[in-house]
Amino acid sequence: MIMNHIFEGLTSVIDGDGIKALKTPCYVIDEKRLLHNAEVLSSVMSHTGCKILLAQKAFSNYDFYPLLSGYLAGTEASGLYEARLGKEEMPEGEVHVFCAAYRDDEFDELLKYADHIVFNSIHQLAKFGGLAKSHGKSIGLRINPECSTQEGHEIYDPCAPGSRLGVTRGVWDEEMTPDLLALLDGLHFHTLCEQDSDALETTLKAVEEKFGDVLPSMKWLNMGGGHHITKPDYDIATLEKLLIYAREKWGVQVYLEPGEAVALNAGYFMTRILDIVENNSIKIAILDSSAACHMPDVIEMPYMPPLLHAASDSSKQYSYRLAGPTCLSGDVIGDYSFDHELKAGDMLIFGDMAIYTTCKNNTFNGMPLPDIYKLGADGIFEKLTDFGYDDFKYRLGRS
Ligand SMILES: *Cc1c(COP(=O)(O)O)cnc(C)c1O
Repeated sequence: MIMNHIFEGLTSVIDGDGIKALKTPCYVIDEKRLLHNAEVLSSVMSHTGCKILLAQKAFSNYDFYPLLSGYLAGTEASGLYEARLGKEEMPEGEVHVFCAAYRDDEFDELLKYADHIVFNSIHQLAKFGGLAKSHGKSIGLRINPECSTQEGHEIYDPCAPGSRLGVTRGVWDEEMTPDLLALLDGLHFHTLCEQDSDALETTLKAVEEKFGDVLPSMKWLNMGGGHHITKPDYDIATLEKLLIYAREKWGVQVYLEPGEAVALNAGYFMTRILDIVENNSIKIAILDSSAACHMPDVIEMPYMPPLLHAASDSSKQYSYRLAGPTCLSGDVIGDYSFDHELKAGDMLIFGDMAIYTTCKNNTFNGMPLPDIYKLGADGIFEKLTDFGYDDFKYRLGRS
């Protein structure tokens, strides 16, 4: 049986009873693949002296934090709750937080969890920077190098015109004062999404052109996420060259905070077919899972997730549209083809499902949240958590 590298982790378990017994829909996190990614990232750290954090918005299944903490330097948070999760579940690591705007009523609590606090504007730096500094925090400002390196994904491009993310050099020159500059320990930029190191090279040049004069007075430079480092053909040598360049040129501690790269291809989504219907000679398999609820990036990005033993075009003999059971007409995962006919009850396995899934799903239409399993390095499936009616009900009311 030929396995795409995305599904390699299933090779030894695919015909076993453990997989057949799984109640679907469910996510399965592959411990071995996670470990592999962590090792790749850890080797970048040891070659370059940079520190790599887990961006929790992509993957926050904290049962795996003890494993990751042996390799990564800590966690990155998008706000109070993720900062707290990072502090609670990976306490030995650093906790970094970036938020487009912090709230007055949660800043004191945030100070309990975060080690690095990154502001998105000079107003926010002026408002909270002194307080954070007096609590011993390392203070950063997110800059916007105005250098778009991606096309077609404007919602994932913080450098798109009109972006709210990061301070441009123009605004910096108007608003920065010597007192505020003195508060700053570091600069932060995050402009990439699923990109290789050539895009980082282009971006770093733009950062140097726009902010090269202030970097020598900084202690650290955080290059954000979006680095697809654990993808098999990623150019790690160029990444390492750039990380060393920044460290030597400006004397900064370099940070990266990838989300995707930490858990890339380290999870699967198991679903079963409930029914097959037909419309204008298109055969449509209705699954017990939903793109809108359980893999929202399929619709948001959009993209077609890899599916085991299927082609994502019509190159195989039997074609089916795969769709969810919700009332949303567009709850469609995509049109795939197979070597054999599908029938109700068949299990389908989507790949690369650890990232932006478990932390992003929802109960639209009253859909249940999928259970989450671990596929251990020993090949054993272990249920980490399950969900039911209460999880649907209690986010809507209190009685
Ligand atoms: C989304 C995000 C990340 C992680 O991005 P990935 O694409 O998952 O690597 C890191 N830092 C910030 C500020 C982000 O917004």
